[in-house]
Amino acid sequence: MEVKLAGYNIDSSVIEKIRSAGSLGDQPLSPETIAVAYARISRDSSPVTELRKKALADVEAARKSAKSIVFEMNHQSVAEHAVFNFDILDISRLCVESLEWHRLCSYTEKSQRYQELVGDFVLPKEFEGEARPLFERTMKDQNALYSKAFKVLLEYFKGKYPQMLDKKWDRRTVEGYAKEDARYAVGLATKAQLGFTANARNLEYLIRRLRANPLSEVRNLGEEFFRLAGNVAPSLILLTDPAEYQKEYGRPLNDDHFTKTHPNASRLASETMKNFGEISPGREYPTSGDVKIIDWSEGADRATLQAILHSHTLASVEACDEVAGKLIRDGGAKDFIQDYLSYANPWESATREFEFADFTFEVILSSACYGQMKRHRMSSQLVQPYDPELGFTYPPSVIETGLKQEFEDNYKQSSEAYYELAKYSRPAAQYVLTNGHRRRMLIRANARELHHISRLREDAHAQWDVRKVSGDMLSLAREKSPLSLMLAWGKDRFPGKKNGMLGS
Ligand SMILES: Cc1cc2nc3c(=O)[nH]c(=O)nc-3n(C[C@H](O)[C@H](O)[C@H](O)COP(=O)(O)OP(=O)(O)OC[C@H]3O[C@@H](n4cnc5c(N)ncnc54)[C@H](O)[C@@H]3O)c2cc1C
Repeated sequence: MEVKLAGYNIDSSVIEKIRSAGSLGDQPLSPETIAVAYARISRDSSPVTELRKKALADVEAARKSAKSIVFEMNHQSVAEHAVFNFDILDISRLCVESLEWHRLCSYTEKSQRYQELVGDFVLPKEFEGEARPLFERTMKDQNALYSKAFKVLLEYFKGKYPQMLDKKWDRRTVEGYAKEDARYAVGLATKAQLGFTANARNLEYLIRRLRANPLSEVRNLGEEFFRLAGNVAPSLILLTDPAEYQKEYGRPLNDDHFTKTHPNASRLASETMKNFGEISPGREYPTSGDVKIIDWSEGADRATLQAILHSHTLASVEACDEVAGKLIRDGGAKDFIQDYLSYANPWESATREFEFADFTFEVILSSACYGQMKRHRMSSQLVQPYDPELGFTYPPSVIETGLKQEFEDNYKQSSEAYYELAKYSRPAAQYVLTNGHRRRMLIRANARELHHISRLREDAHAQWDVRKVSGDMLSLAREKSPLSLMLAWGKDRFPGKKNGMLGS
């Protein structure tokens, strides 16, 4: 066996130093060469180390190969071997949502739980004209409430947890409680920053989607990605540039899928719903809090058992299904699963066999909560726009400190600003909605991902809002699938649950 470290991501200032030292002549420094060398593995029997040297020696030829392999032969997975990192500053929380919609990328973001907000916000291009005073006034008022609430809530939490004031780490946690609740006052225009990593395939896809977004800020973000990555890897970020595409292929770039599908679907869905008029719901779904479970694998536990039996024997699927059914009927299933889970611990994922049981929920959740749920990339999520008609989420501490009325006034004022600003741009009006405004989300996750969501979000360290929502999701799913989700608990409760399960 021979394993070589072929490359790794390096800080751009180091790359710049190498470039300006001049020792490379006009040799471009590009992630394309590795992607192309790997693409050539498919048809060229030379050792991959040689293919890498060849690509590096003639970058222009490598770029030509990349274009032909990725775009003409449609072998787009090759572009996944080129990776980019971006620092993103001064972006709104609303814009972050459009970026983080893309699941196969990596994000680390400024936390409104751990950092005190300083009142900075993005002024959307859509409101630079006559709507600007209303927009800025709303932001100012939201931030004034944030500052006031932070002070009040800090004293409240200090009083509630006096034992946590001695150690620096604990004191920070108490301050975090105040920050995470005060932030329900502020809007989606609040500035964020994040580190973002994506491979060229994902980057190209998301640039195309971002460019078709109704928000100007999101479109600009797409342009920036294109400018920066297109410069270093022009052969892999090609489908994003209509002019280059036309030049290369002699036909216009067709982006209808990105620009027209969503508006068309919105029209189609609204007209269809309207045509059916007043609907009296025919089904009632099991509900817990603001969560409904609307679909689950028929016999979810049986599906998990069947998958475990199948992947660890040479038996046919029919035989595994039969045995899984018998285990459930005869009462041996619980012992089987308990034994299977003997080595489970709270830090490792549940095994792949748990992916064969699926659950779908509708959740009405606050923007603060959505900000956390959207990070769970191994689930399918669809969201409606924020809707002031869905009411507001109040942190319990806000109610206990008598701040509820001020929060309600703030939520209502922000909603009124939303309706007014929607006359200029409905999508952009969402910038003034707060972390306490709500939306509907459909989320589908398998039992493996539910284990993960539960471990992180039902845990005592998790924020109360997402803890409540994930707790409701899990309690509904556990009823449908008690065996598959036997150890789906927050990290804090995991040891107790496992000891109980093993009878120790
Ligand atoms: C208490 C707490 C505080 C947090 N604070 C912050 C914060 O300050 N800033 C911040 O940005 N985020 C924060 N997060 C969010 C956190 O970093 C994760 O993004 C989020 O919890 C989703 O978890 P995940 O990425 O493990 O899993 P998911 O996206 O749900 O994926 C499930 C699993 O799939 C695998 N997986 C998914 N994608 C990849 C990939 N690209 N590469 C390798 N493996 C992958 C991993 O095993 C992962 O655990 C916080 C979370 C918690 C619980």
